[in-house]
Amino acid sequence: MQKLKEHIIRELRTRLERDRIRVSKRIKELGTQDPFNDPDRVNDNAASDTEANEEAGHDRVSALVDALQKEQADTIAALTRMDEGTYGVCRNCERDIPVERLRILPATTLCLDCEQKQP
Ligand SMILES: [Zn+2]
Repeated sequence: MQKLKEHIIRELRTRLERDRIRVSKRIKELGTQDPFNDPDRVNDNAASDTEANEEAGHDRVSALVDALQKEQADTIAALTRMDEGTYGVCRNCERDIPVERLRILPATTLCLDCEQKQP
């Protein structure tokens, strides 16, 4: 692990913890908005346009949930790396990720150079 100052680690950990809670709340909220999870949804004789709307709503919600679940996984992985002492190191080139970048993207696993080289 790069020699991050303790107060910086604390600051970033607080942000990651906060993000994790925010994202998991949002996933729960979206779950209740998904028409497919609506227990009152009428399956048999719903008009076809209602079904189409539900389908579109479901696709939109599940795309959002997918993105949030990825964010959640990244956030948890970053917290794990902090615990393991591998936080703040680029997983590609193994150089230290600058603190300024970690402050913007605390869950990132790549330095800017490597991220820009990603396909
Ligand atoms: Zn790198």
